[in-house]
Amino acid sequence: MLMVGAGEIAGVVGRYDPKKVSIATIGSHSALNIFKGAREEGFRTVCVCAKGRDKLYRRFRLADEYIILDKLQDITGEDVQERLKELNSVVIPHGSFNAYLEQKRLREWSVPIFGNRTLLDVETSRVRQHEWMRGAGLKVPKVYKSPSDIKGLAFVKFPGAKGGKGYFVVDNEEAFEKKIRLMVKSKLITAEEAKSPYIQEYIIGVNVYPHYFHSVLSGETEFMGVDKRYESSVDGVYRIPVPEQIGQEVSPSFTIVGNFPMVLRESLLDEIFGIGERIVAESQRLAPPGIIGAFCMETIIRENLEIVAFEISSRIVAGCNALIGQSPYMYLMYDEPMYMGKRMAREIKDAIRLDRLPDIVT
Ligand code: AMP
Ligand code: AMP
Repeated sequence: MLMVGAGEIAGVVGRYDPKKVSIATIGSHSALNIFKGAREEGFRTVCVCAKGRDKLYRRFRLADEYIILDKLQDITGEDVQERLKELNSVVIPHGSFNAYLEQKRLREWSVPIFGNRTLLDVETSRVRQHEWMRGAGLKVPKVYKSPSDIKGLAFVKFPGAKGGKGYFVVDNEEAFEKKIRLMVKSKLITAEEAKSPYIQEYIIGVNVYPHYFHSVLSGETEFMGVDKRYESSVDGVYRIPVPEQIGQEVSPSFTIVGNFPMVLRESLLDEIFGIGERIVAESQRLAPPGIIGAFCMETIIRENLEIVAFEISSRIVAGCNALIGQSPYMYLMYDEPMYMGKRMAREIKDAIRLDRLPDIVT
């Protein structure tokens, strides 16, 4: 895999004026969280966004500079990279980086990113994510190689961070074929995507999404908070009485609409910390120096309180937006309001102060 070299990125930040470092991100996903945190830590902020999307960010008055593109894909253009370097920008990646940008060009992008690029890239492969989680000793759902292997309830997903769009649940091959045709027909997935289904055991339990921050500077893994998602139409289906559901052949999908903040039963917290620490340890083996900064897990807690992990993101997730300002766990750890956007900016600020910026960017 061609990836921009560590030396090149260290060279770029080496030329930055430490007093003028700005924090940049794409205007979408969790940009408001990132900009607010950056502002609170005294950074200038740069919003790179597609024409028309800047309107939203201007309403919140959180960005100092805008780089407006005809389309988001132009972010990998030489001129945009040069402008970001002129602005001494450290880029904070979020869900839109993998969802909307071309992987190959992103790997070659020469603007410093707060995070580990190799691990960000793992997000594009469910197989590699599962190897990582399994390597960390976590419980993960069974994977079915082919629709004919399906036994019991199975969950069918499609490539990329699509926020659950077009996913479905089935319990046999025939139902699988029928639903995949339905999803293409209703344009929830493309015919191309339909060729690469990823079929997992369906885990019954409660979905819980913990957020973590691994500080390279202190070596500590912090548990930042946890959210729960609200997905359409699955979270609305239960409002329809069962006979009508059957009559209408309701087929729920999992398009993310929003998130709720939540707290966990206190006795679960030890295991939640353990999961984060094991993921970090395995990441250090897989892609040294391992996780840098934000990372988040998607888990389901079964009725016997077993925690099953099914996805990992080596970056901020949008569920952190439910905790902008403060989370109960951050309140316990810090004597001041703290949340993911601010925690990330704090790490960048500390790295600049300690002259260690090259250690936290790739
Ligand atoms: P957006 O800017 O809303 O188009 O989101 C960018 C990417 O992040 C898309 O792939 C979305 O599906 C995903 N995304 C946005 N919000 C959330 C969320 N609350 N939870 C999970 N994924 C999300
Ligand atoms: P993902 O794109 O992997 O984040 O999945 C989107 C949504 O599908 C999740 O938020 C869950 O509601 C649901 N989900 C994903 N995997 C499973 C699974 N193995 N069992 C049950 N529900 C799942």
